[in-house]
Amino acid sequence: MAVHRTKMLIIGSGPAGYTAAIYGARAMLEPIIVQGLQPGGQLTITTDVENYPGFADVIQGPWLMEQMQAQAEHVGTRTMWDTIVEVDLEGGAPFRAIGDSGDEYIGDTLVIATGAQAKWLGVPGEQELSGKGVSACATCDGFFFRGKKVAVIGGGNTAVEEALYLTNHSDDVTLIHRRDELRSEKILQERMFANPKISTLWNKAVESFEAGENGTLSHIVLKDTQTGEISTIEVDGAFVAIGHSPATELFKGKLPLDANGYLLTEPGSPATAIPGVFAAGDVSDHTYRQAVTAAGMGCMAALDAERFLAAQDFAKPAAVAAE
Ligand SMILES: Cc1cc2nc3c(=O)[nH]c(=O)nc-3n(C[C@H](O)[C@H](O)[C@H](O)COP(=O)(O)OP(=O)(O)OC[C@H]3O[C@@H](n4cnc5c(N)ncnc54)[C@H](O)[C@@H]3O)c2cc1C
Repeated sequence: MAVHRTKMLIIGSGPAGYTAAIYGARAMLEPIIVQGLQPGGQLTITTDVENYPGFADVIQGPWLMEQMQAQAEHVGTRTMWDTIVEVDLEGGAPFRAIGDSGDEYIGDTLVIATGAQAKWLGVPGEQELSGKGVSACATCDGFFFRGKKVAVIGGGNTAVEEALYLTNHSDDVTLIHRRDELRSEKILQERMFANPKISTLWNKAVESFEAGENGTLSHIVLKDTQTGEISTIEVDGAFVAIGHSPATELFKGKLPLDANGYLLTEPGSPATAIPGVFAAGDVSDHTYRQAVTAAGMGCMAALDAERFLAAQDFAKPAAVAAE
């Protein structure tokens, strides 16, 4: 078991974490990034990425994350294959974290970039057809279904927002909901019901997603929640929109969270309630949830961490890795 000390400890290796690392390393903060169970974050489970600036051609999500990791390491980041299982934020900086490996990490500042995970239905075909017609992000993948028939599954704000967004690309959007009324805000419902491109299927639960001969999604099997009747709907794309779970279990009772479990930060800033602890990316953002916004917040967190250190007496070289 080893103790690793740094001026900037980053938990999470998605776009937010790696961007914080790039900025932190270039500010000589000798960052350590702890990767967690999904090195590279959510983009590693997708294929085409077409909206990350700087690339004229479509790029692959896993490739983009490899590039971010390489860039962070080239400028001096140390990447750790570990998952944080405990944090101690009491008493302020420096902050302690314990890894699954038993190693201890001590950071004069802490950037929390643990992200979020889309909730899935857990029905047959869903994971197999993920990226082949089934998605959990209309902003990310809606463009790939231009002029095609799509469905959105869910009944809350996320589902209605996704359905409205998809009408930019498709004239045939069906919202499928397991109840006979929506949970989303009334204003969103009014907008949706007024939109002629969106139709609704009430009291229908998804039984499975089915592939056609070409291996991509061809139809969804539905079960009526009132009568049990089975039906199908042919679609080219299906967007599961039943919410996201931010990875904030570690911070419960230690940092303020909102009602949905997202880390609360000062408006327009990555600062949390504890000076020296910053949050970046999807872990504190339930609104935008994009790679580029996560990266932007990672940059903000690193710059603010640098300013925090400059105002403290931590500007001495860190005792790196007492391994
Ligand atoms: C299928 C799919 C397709 C998408 N497509 C696009 C797209 O085309 N364009 C776009 O802009 N966005 C897209 N997104 C959204 C984008 O991936 C996210 O907005 C972005 O990855 C958020 O970055 P993040 O750094 O905040 O967190 P994440 O990418 O969620 O990364 C979180 C990181 O935290 C780590 N972690 C969690 N807990 C711990 C712990 N206890 N200890 C250590 N590490 C931990 C994880 O291992 C992971 O590395 C897509 C998302 C999905 C799911």
